[in-house]
Amino acid sequence: MNYNSYASHMKSRYGYRIFRVGVDAGFTCPNRLKSPTGAGCVYCDSQGARAAYLRSSESHFRHDSGFEETIDTIACSPSDCKDYSFTFDFQGIKKQVDRGLEFLSRRYKASHFALYLQSFSNTFAPYEKLKELYDYATSLYPWESFIVSTRPDCLDRRKIDLLASYKSSCREVCVELGLQSGSDEILRAMNRGHDVACFEKAANLVRLRGIGLCMHVLTGFPGEEYPELDRTIDVINRVHPDAIKIHNLNVAAGTVLYERFLEGEVTVPCMSRHIENVAYILRRIPSDIVIERLMCETPNHRLASPRLFPDKNRFLRNLDEFMEKHGYRQGDLCQRQ
Ligand code: SF4
Repeated sequence: MNYNSYASHMKSRYGYRIFRVGVDAGFTCPNRLKSPTGAGCVYCDSQGARAAYLRSSESHFRHDSGFEETIDTIACSPSDCKDYSFTFDFQGIKKQVDRGLEFLSRRYKASHFALYLQSFSNTFAPYEKLKELYDYATSLYPWESFIVSTRPDCLDRRKIDLLASYKSSCREVCVELGLQSGSDEILRAMNRGHDVACFEKAANLVRLRGIGLCMHVLTGFPGEEYPELDRTIDVINRVHPDAIKIHNLNVAAGTVLYERFLEGEVTVPCMSRHIENVAYILRRIPSDIVIERLMCETPNHRLASPRLFPDKNRFLRNLDEFMEKHGYRQGDLCQRQ
């Protein structure tokens, strides 16, 4: 393997695989709240933030289903925003945990688990409410890891200290933080609602507190050329996260980007362009950064474009072949090992 894959990292670090129990705790996202339509980032596919087994309304779709333009989304409306009360359904959370543990144990014979607060911005609530939720969710099982996905503008020192306090009960605490692009211009075009400086400040606080950091980046957004990609790589190198997830731009039903796509203003990377982008990034980042994901996996019934992108296994095989053929390795052009 020419890069530091998540699977090989887990094998060498733990000797076994840790499965994530994804929980939708009922958070929303400040970027959706402050947008007049509730849409947030232009590519935001609200369903996509949920684990597959939490999307029961979609269970009748198959992997080869056609695109359904009319699929329901859960974009919040301005009235939802006014009413958003930061209250959590603890019984519902327990049910999700029980269901996730049962599903993963049955399907994969899993025996080691991480609690993954995955949907939307999981630090977007007052400190006391967060503490109540985290105390409860971390007490439901002897988790190996506690993983919290959020936005950089939803973290401050106090919340980061709170997260760090769970290192006493879980073996690891990790924050997943979205940068998406190292270009402020592209972040504005994405309607991300934060800039690069905001990301770096939050990421550095997380690192200083000894919490694991997984950084999310997105490639192929309109206007991104190599200088913009270089800025993203510069941020990765300055922050030096433990892990990254790289996504290719997908156009999903119900997003602002989908409307622009229908107008003819948006193209997205095909497989070969995404492979080139991924290899370009991998070669320029330190070899010890764990690569947790390399592509987006929007289900076909919600994916308007790219329609001919291969499934994950084929994509990874093609990436491996491309890296091998050219003799590329993660970090071979990186100055900061
Ligand atoms: S930060 Fe995430 S949940 Fe919020 S609007 Fe953007 S993509 Fe959607």
